[in-house]
Amino acid sequence: MTALHGRHLAVSPDWLALYYRDPLELTHGEGRHVWDADGNRYLDFFGGILTTMTAHALPEVTKAVAEQAGRIIHSSTLYLNRPMVELAERVATLSGIPDARVFFTTSGTEANDTALLLATTYRRSNQILAMRNSYHGRSFSAVSVTGNRAWSPTSLSPLQTLYVHGGVRTRGPYAELSDHRFVKACVADLEDLLGHTRDAAALIAEPVQGVGGFTSPPDGLYAAFRQVLDRHGILWISDEVQTGWGRTGDHFWGWQAHAEHGPPDILTFAKGIGNGMSIGGVVARAEVMNCLDANSISTFGGSPVTMAAGLANLSYLLEHDLPGNARRVGGLLIERLRAVVAGSACVREVRGRGLMIGIELVKPGTDEANPETAAAVLEAARERGLLLGKGGGHSTSVLRIAPPLSLTVAEAEEGAAILGEALRAAE
Ligand code: PMP
Repeated sequence: MTALHGRHLAVSPDWLALYYRDPLELTHGEGRHVWDADGNRYLDFFGGILTTMTAHALPEVTKAVAEQAGRIIHSSTLYLNRPMVELAERVATLSGIPDARVFFTTSGTEANDTALLLATTYRRSNQILAMRNSYHGRSFSAVSVTGNRAWSPTSLSPLQTLYVHGGVRTRGPYAELSDHRFVKACVADLEDLLGHTRDAAALIAEPVQGVGGFTSPPDGLYAAFRQVLDRHGILWISDEVQTGWGRTGDHFWGWQAHAEHGPPDILTFAKGIGNGMSIGGVVARAEVMNCLDANSISTFGGSPVTMAAGLANLSYLLEHDLPGNARRVGGLLIERLRAVVAGSACVREVRGRGLMIGIELVKPGTDEANPETAAAVLEAARERGLLLGKGGGHSTSVLRIAPPLSLTVAEAEEGAAILGEALRAAE
């Protein structure tokens, strides 16, 4: 029982569902571990996607933050600061977008909001294509392109959004199709949605759906979409808030898994780059970035302390080849997870890329989502010292695993073993 037990109502409206029956109060972290207010230690298999890209309390980041905080804490609006310029230059180069410009925000939501502002202004259209089951944030425009109905709390919208098939297909008419036929059906669906006008501003998509349950589109789907969109000058916004910085192992950005038609027109990022400090941002080629013809500022976007954290964190990631670590340790972890869940009638699938792994739970012997067991596994894992995430399309029945990218082989093995025990206890 944490010291804050029962006091969460101060910060938690009914629409913010905290994890765990007794919500967790975290007090400190180190490496891939965090501690709660009662002194319990947990292996963190989820914080990597939320905030902690490299490691908890990474000394390099802590030092950069402390030094910068001791010099100046300020806004980047109206003035320059060195870490902001240096981080922007590095992100522009890494993005793969030619003639790229970067604009920093404070969150993924604000980054996507900015991307939608740019795309709608550039194309003079407020029609946006978005994927079913997607998640893009919590502002009015971001929920208006969020296809996951569990995270889309209003039906009012500043945009005209058309939802495209191509994410989950575990149920419904697409469930039985081969990848090839599914891609063909989704492209036909897209053409159909575009109809005669074809004046949509952009398609926004996550390369791997995050909140939606770590589902990847089949190979070739996004490339086929790009062909259609490029024909009509419709922009591609790649939401890399979860998939960026090597999380998926094989690629630095999620879009690179679908790269036949080159980089996206607009890329958004957030979450892990600040290792817990609030950084988001948009990258676009200059012509798109500069299409606004009035001022637009983000007071805390690009502030020197968060930028110093981002720069130190990115340097650590690259110097220690953590994307490579995500590929190697992620590959081993997915194998171990498949082994420990083998034989469970509740597990439909273990899927993922790099250190972004989902375990989809169903009611035994059926294809029906099983949010009860997912919640029970989360609690049982916590009792055994492991933190997991959950997500999924129509219900939260996917266990989500996204540790810091510095996860070691021993930690991967330990976490997989605990997860196996937690699943057996929950079943
Ligand atoms: N895009 C994606 C893909 C996300 O997963 C999230 C956060 N879950 C967001 C955008 C929104 O980011 P934030 O919570 O920082 O506003």
